[in-house]
Amino acid sequence: MNHTHLSLADQIFNLFETRGNATYGEDVTVLQHSLQSAHFAREAGVSEALIVAALLHDIGHLIHTEGEDIAERGVDAEHEDIGDEWLSAHFPAEITEPARLHVAAKRYLCAVNSAYLSELSEASVLSLSLQGGPMTLEEQASFEKEPFFQDALTLRKFDDLGKEPSLEVAPLESYRELIEQFAFESNPV
Ligand code: FE
Repeated sequence: MNHTHLSLADQIFNLFETRGNATYGEDVTVLQHSLQSAHFAREAGVSEALIVAALLHDIGHLIHTEGEDIAERGVDAEHEDIGDEWLSAHFPAEITEPARLHVAAKRYLCAVNSAYLSELSEASVLSLSLQGGPMTLEEQASFEKEPFFQDALTLRKFDDLGKEPSLEVAPLESYRELIEQFAFESNPV
C-alpha cells in the first residue's frame, strides 16, 4: 500500500485497524491491549512521552509477519526489536526506549520480585522462557544502568494491566495530538 499521503498518526492507526485484531495469546487483541496500556498510563499521570510509549510498545506485533500463535510454536518474534526499529525512525528516545525495554523489564521484575512472576498472564509466562527467562544478576546490573530503566518498569506495569477483555477505554483518535506532538516529522513520510 502506498502510504505517502498519510500522516504518521494515520499510518499508525491503519496498522492497528488492519492488523491489531489478533489476540497474540492474550484475552484481548493487540489494539485493545495497546489502548488499555495507554489508558492506565494516562490515569497514572505519567509523562506524555510515556503515554505514547504505552500506546505503541507492542507495535512490533503489528509489523512482523509471523502468525499470532508464534509463542505456542516456540518462536520468539522479538517484537520489541522489530517495533524499536520502526519507532526509532519516527520518535525520540523517551518514547522508543521504554518500549524497546518492555520485555527486558519483565525479565528484570521476574528476577527481583518473586510475586511478580505469579501475577503474570499465561501468555506472558509462556513467552518469558523464549525471551531468556528471569535476568541473571549481571543482566540486572546492566539493565539498571539503562537511562530509561525506571520508565521501562513503569511502562511494564501498564502493559500488565492492559489485558482486561471487558474494559472499554478511549479510542486511538484520542492520541492523535500526542503522536503528532512527538513525531519527528509532522509532514507525510
Ligand atoms: Fe504489551
